[in-house]
Amino acid sequence: MERKVSFLKILPLTFVLALIAITVSQSCRRQCVSFSEVEIERIGSDSTAGIMPLFTTLDTAELSFLRLQAAPLTMTDLQSDEYNILRNRMLCTVLDTANTGVGIAAPQVGISKQLVAVQRFDKSGEPFEFYPNASISYYSPDKKYGWEGCLSVPDMRDTVLRSTMIVVNYNDELTFEPKCDTVSGFTAVIFQHETDHLKGILYTDYK
Ligand SMILES: [Zn+2]
Repeated sequence: MERKVSFLKILPLTFVLALIAITVSQSCRRQCVSFSEVEIERIGSDSTAGIMPLFTTLDTAELSFLRLQAAPLTMTDLQSDEYNILRNRMLCTVLDTANTGVGIAAPQVGISKQLVAVQRFDKSGEPFEFYPNASISYYSPDKKYGWEGCLSVPDMRDTVLRSTMIVVNYNDELTFEPKCDTVSGFTAVIFQHETDHLKGILYTDYK
C-alpha cells in the first residue's frame, strides 16, 4: 500500500518534469537559431510547402527590406529544421515554372540572412547549389557587359558590367568549414548578382 501511494505521488511529478523539459527544449530551439520570430513564421514548418512569396521593388515595404544588409548564418542555423525548410522552399521558388531564375538570395523571400542559391552552369548537370555566408573576396579587373534580370525587379532586363572572374568565400553547409571557389563566366555573374542582394544592392543600381 505504501509503495502504491509513493508511486502515485511520483507520477504527477514525472509528468510536470517532462512538460518542463519539452518547454525548455522548444524555447531553446527558438533562442539558439538566429532567425527572428517573423522569419521562422515565413519559413514555416512544412518542408513540402513549396514556393515562398517573392519580395519585389513594386512594394515600398518590401523594397526597404531588400535594401537591408543581411545577417550571417550560424552553425546552429545550418543544422536547424528552419534552414532545411528555407533551403527547400528557396529552391522551389527559383525553379517556379511561372517565373524561373538562375539564382536567388534569402532576402528575396523575406529572410534577411546571408544565403544564396546559384545555378552552377560551370558544373556537369548545372545543379543549384547553396552558399551560406557567401561573399566575394576577389573581383577580376577584366569586366564584360551582360544581360541580367531579377526575380525581385519584375518585367525588366538590362545590361550590367561585371567581373569575368571572381573568388567566392562561404561556409560549408554540413561542416561550417570556411571554403572558397574561383568561378568565371556566366556563373560568376550570378554570384555577383546574388551576393549583391546580401548587401542590399540591386542590379539596377549600376545604371
Ligand atoms: Zn536578383
